Order: sequence, then structure tokens, then C-alpha cells
Amino acid sequence: MKNIKALLAVFLLSLAFSAMAQVDFKYYPYELKLKHAFNLATMSRTTTPGVQVEITVDSVTGYGEASMPPYLGESVESVTAFLERIDPERLSNPFALEEIHAYMDSLAPGNRAAKAAVDIALHDLTGKLMGQPWYAIYGLDGERTPCTSFTISNDTPEELAKKIKESEPYSIIKVKMGVPGDRELIETIRRHTDKPICVDVNQGWKSREEALDNINWLASRNVIFVEQPMDKTDIEGHKWLKERSPIPIVADEAVQTSADIPALAEAYDGINIKLMKSGGLHEAYKMAVLAKALGLKVMIGCMTETSCAVSAAAQLAPMAEWVDLDGNLLIANDLFDGMTIAPDGRVTLTPTPGIGISKK
Ligand code: MG
Repeated sequence: MKNIKALLAVFLLSLAFSAMAQVDFKYYPYELKLKHAFNLATMSRTTTPGVQVEITVDSVTGYGEASMPPYLGESVESVTAFLERIDPERLSNPFALEEIHAYMDSLAPGNRAAKAAVDIALHDLTGKLMGQPWYAIYGLDGERTPCTSFTISNDTPEELAKKIKESEPYSIIKVKMGVPGDRELIETIRRHTDKPICVDVNQGWKSREEALDNINWLASRNVIFVEQPMDKTDIEGHKWLKERSPIPIVADEAVQTSADIPALAEAYDGINIKLMKSGGLHEAYKMAVLAKALGLKVMIGCMTETSCAVSAAAQLAPMAEWVDLDGNLLIANDLFDGMTIAPDGRVTLTPTPGIGISKK
């Protein structure tokens, strides 16, 4: 009943907004400060650039965010250059998500983080106008959410001990591998805890044999799945690996939008959906539906982001087998309160309309 009302509200509001309205479209760079240096297979960093977006219609404001890890090729400059090209008038019916995405795609084919920022703000705005959080609009049970993993990146023994301590409330640990010393990192964590670990290789293993050898070693150490073990373009290699691996293989870098999914269905057991890759929630929801239809498991991930983009992604958590929504926990200067993590590590959605956030 709630959802019929919500749909009716969308229809009526959509009619009202088609003859609309003053739109205020704002954006500004916001650099995220990381609590600890983030060490990946290819680099290390202590800040991550971001852009915040605010779309106000009739004094209701929706918040959105672009976060730009360097590997996606976007920057504050490219995001703001894209946002500058948007005619705010084209956002005057914020419910016309399909149409607005087609308009944004007509401006430029890529720029997905920039598009995600607009998409997230529109979801926040329309959810607020409907008085419903998006998980409820999708018809999902907000209570049925998995536990999030908490990322521990390699570090000096002292820093590592601190990070392991910090991970105590979380029931799953995520470890980045594909760097020298990565097996030692797993051993170190195992000396402190036997909690399940998921491993993200970020394409770091160079051959099928190296990947399989590592995966067999990890499987005997309570590792529950491995994300993107090899180069994202190596579909045949991942297919070979999937046939032999005792634990699930999840695609991350190999999958951006729903168009990528059918070709990957035989090479992976699951996909990691992130709003900055998909261009926002509108596409991310389609991806989750398609993945499930193809028998793939769904993981919802994030970049290093404030609670804005993380809470938006969390709206899809009830559709996921695994979630990796710790981006906001890793930063020291969050702008929002949003989804929280229960004492057992479970993602806890707030019934706040929109994407479930409030500005601090
Ligand atoms: Mg990953």
C-alpha cells in the first residue's frame, strides 16, 4: 500500500513538476581527509578529491556527491567542467530520471562520477518530495541488510595493529592484496582474529596460475570471496579461474554498467556495483536486477566518500549478498549523518526520506 501511494505520489508530483519550477543547482569541491593512508596495489594516498552537489526545487534540497579515485580517470576539474555544462532548467522535473540521464549522456559519454552526483541529488530530492526513503520506493525490506566489511590496508606493524583494533565492531574484514607482502598481511590479521575476510586484488595477480595458487591458500584461511583477481579485460582467464576456485570470484573493475554484465556472467560469481562507476542509483538498481536474473551475486561497494554517496548506495543493500560500505568510516571530515553500522557490523538504514541523510 505504501508503495502504491508512493507511485501515485510520483505520478502526481511528476505532473506538477513538468510545469515547474525554479531550480537551484550548486556544486563545490570538497577534499576528503583519510583517517589512515590508503595503500593499493599501484599507489598510496591520504586524501581523495570530491565534489558535492545540491539541487533545490521549491525549497527542498537534494544532496549528491562525486568521488574520484584516480583509476576512474575523473578529477575535480573534469567533474566541475561537466557540471558546468548542465542546464539547470533540464532538472526542473526531478522525477524524470531516465530523461535527465539521456540528457547528461548527450553532453558526454563518460563522466560517471559527475553524473552520479546529479543522480544521487535527484534521488535525495525526489525521495524527500515523496516522503519516502528509496529502499522503500524500490519495495525493499530495510531490515534485511548484510554486514559491511571493513577495509584494512597494509601498513607498518604499529599502524596495522591500530587498524585491526579499529575493525573490532565489524564482522567481516576486507584486505587489499596484489602487493608485495600481502600473504604476510593475511597471516598478521589471522594472529589477531579468525573473522571472515574478503580479499580485493584490484587486478594485481598477473597469471591464472598465480591467482589460483593464492586463492587456494586463502580459501584455507577463511577467506569468503576474492574480488577482481586479474586484469579486467581477461574474461577468459577469469572463466578458467571460476571453474577451479573453491570460493566465489567477484568482478569490480571489469563491470561499470549493466551493458558489461551479460559478457561476465560465465567468468564471475558476482559483481561489485558502485555508484561512481554506474553513474548513480538509477543505473545501479538496473544492474542489481540484471545480475540477479543472470544468477550472479550482488555486492554493493563504494569509494572513499562522505555519508552522502555511501547512504545512497546503502538503499540497495537489501538486494546484496555482500556490502562494502565503509567509505564514510575511513574519512575524518564527513559532512553528513546517514546510514550507520550496528554493533554486529550490519548496515542500518534510516527511514529518513530520500537517501537517508541529514547535513551535520
Ligand atoms: Mg574492488
